[in-house]
Amino acid sequence: MIGNANTKQEKASILLIYTGGTIGMIENPETGALESFNFQHLKDNMPELKKLGYAVSAYQFDPPIDSAEMGPEGWQKIVEIIAGNYPLYDGFVVLHGTDTMSYTASALSFMLENLSKPVILTGSQLPIGVLRTDGKENLITAIEIAAAKENGMPIVPEVCIFFESTLLRGNRTRKINADNFNAFRSYNYPPLAYAGVHIKYDTTQIYHPILRKPLKVHYLLDRSIAILKLFPGMSPQVIENILNTPGLKGIVMETFGSGNAPKEEWFLNMLKEAVGRGLVIVDVTQCVAGSVEMDRYETGKKLLEAGVISGYDSTTESAVTKLMFLFGHGLTPAEVKEHMNCSLIGEITIPDK
Ligand code: ASP
Repeated sequence: MIGNANTKQEKASILLIYTGGTIGMIENPETGALESFNFQHLKDNMPELKKLGYAVSAYQFDPPIDSAEMGPEGWQKIVEIIAGNYPLYDGFVVLHGTDTMSYTASALSFMLENLSKPVILTGSQLPIGVLRTDGKENLITAIEIAAAKENGMPIVPEVCIFFESTLLRGNRTRKINADNFNAFRSYNYPPLAYAGVHIKYDTTQIYHPILRKPLKVHYLLDRSIAILKLFPGMSPQVIENILNTPGLKGIVMETFGSGNAPKEEWFLNMLKEAVGRGLVIVDVTQCVAGSVEMDRYETGKKLLEAGVISGYDSTTESAVTKLMFLFGHGLTPAEVKEHMNCSLIGEITIPDK
């Protein structure tokens, strides 16, 4: 662990990418609904930005969006902004709505290959103009983390989410609370830092590239992916319709416990047939924590026999965006399966055989 006492650099340069979300919203006086506002509003409500001692520049999505509207085009835009400004800044802070922040963080982690600078996503549950806002603290600490260096090197050269007091690896996160300020968790990977009086980094958990290679950005994503969440008593028709969606290439199947599903003949036959046609089906658990172990119960083993592959301890958010990324690069189903079962950037733990 290292503290942040000696990590603040004079005039570190940070690019703030404001995509939208509650942090910059204001209440529409007519409807009472929260709507996105522009970056000037955010700056007017945060004179603290000037006091930070960093050179903070900003780029704003026009118009800023609720993160429910975020998707591949938005991710491509963020990647383009980071790539275009990469040599000019020490770190990047992405202001983003909380609702789909974990999907964006996961997608960015795959799209920014060889990242060697911090990309910290944050947002807030209450708009920045509201007295009790959590946005100011989140934004200020996210900027500090994006600027933090040790021996001239960035402490966190990863795509992360900072929220409330915890820094998490982005592709391990999920939003778990719609009200609470402490809205994100990474159940299967430890936090990378805690922000209390000092920001304490757990450097043993932070990913550092062994070889310094230039940033390689990826824009290709394939949307032909679905999530199939199982529940007891699902009708064959629903499963059949999903599996036969025209053009579908990959499915993240949310199963029970350690990766189990009913072993009814019709269900397993449908899966087998779909896998035979080249559909990649990835088994992730509906539990918030823990890993899929398909050979632990007969119900999981049957899925393996049907050709379903394990997503181990991946989040749904990470598995979905990884499939989009892999199919986007034109990989064959066999190649996609191979890559799904290895860690590209710390998103999955594959147990030793
Ligand atoms: N609906 C908002 C969004 O995700 C919620 C938030 O920012 O927290 O954009």
